[in-house]
Amino acid sequence: MTTLTTPPIPTLSRTIAARAVDVVKTYGRGDTAVRALDGASLEVEAGRLTAIMGPSGSGKSTLMHVLAGLDDVDSGSVHVGHTDLSRLGEKARTLLRRQRIGFVFQAFNLVPALTAAENIALPLTLAGGRPDPAWMDQLVDTLGLRDRLDHRPSGLSGGQQQRVAAARALVTCPEVVFADEPTGNLDTRHGRALLGFLREAARDLGQTIVMVTHDPAAAAYADRVVFLIDGRVAGDLVDPTVAAVLDRMGE
Ligand code: ADP
Repeated sequence: MTTLTTPPIPTLSRTIAARAVDVVKTYGRGDTAVRALDGASLEVEAGRLTAIMGPSGSGKSTLMHVLAGLDDVDSGSVHVGHTDLSRLGEKARTLLRRQRIGFVFQAFNLVPALTAAENIALPLTLAGGRPDPAWMDQLVDTLGLRDRLDHRPSGLSGGQQQRVAAARALVTCPEVVFADEPTGNLDTRHGRALLGFLREAARDLGQTIVMVTHDPAAAAYADRVVFLIDGRVAGDLVDPTVAAVLDRMGE
């Protein structure tokens, strides 16, 4: 009789889409200097929705800005994929942001004179390109924007405008999408719909997303929540629930 042996369990190592190591970032000088990041380290896993949480002033937005190449660092290193951002000049960083990063801000930042369809396609038309029709269709349908494509932002609700902004962030299939309090200006229903979409974009489409939020209910949509305190990563939760996030924040 043959004995069945259990095969070795393969170690799954996930790809890291962006990484910050020991990042220090100070604003201002002398007596008024503020150390926004004080040795922050974070690995952002590819194809997942990562939430960054922490008290106001803990450095969430600053961490997002340095990971996205919007701001430089005093010391430490930041990588997007294999690119070391500290080695890039201002021009190269701008190009990296345009070509490899997507943004969803709290203020939707849509162009008032353009239709929803034109706003979504804007990152590509600016670069002289055009969206892939199948991908555009998928985004538009998933986000429920099909019958809104010819409307200008003034003719759209807040929820619809934010969905247009989300589609615009994903239309280029960027390596990382950064979302700063994306539901901050939405009511609960529209907020949940957008968070559901971001989670699906990560799970079903493999999109890497980093979301800054102060809302435990929003963070619970993420695959992982990272907690910042005083400019440093103080811990994380994988597959968080609202209760677990609240618990951790109360510690
Ligand atoms: P959070 O997003 O967690 O609220 P921030 O990253 O916005 O925190 O800010 C961290 C600290 O850095 C705060 O004390 C804030 O006042 C300061 N800060 C952020 N941006 C600037 C700036 N452009 N100039 C001066 N201070 C700043």
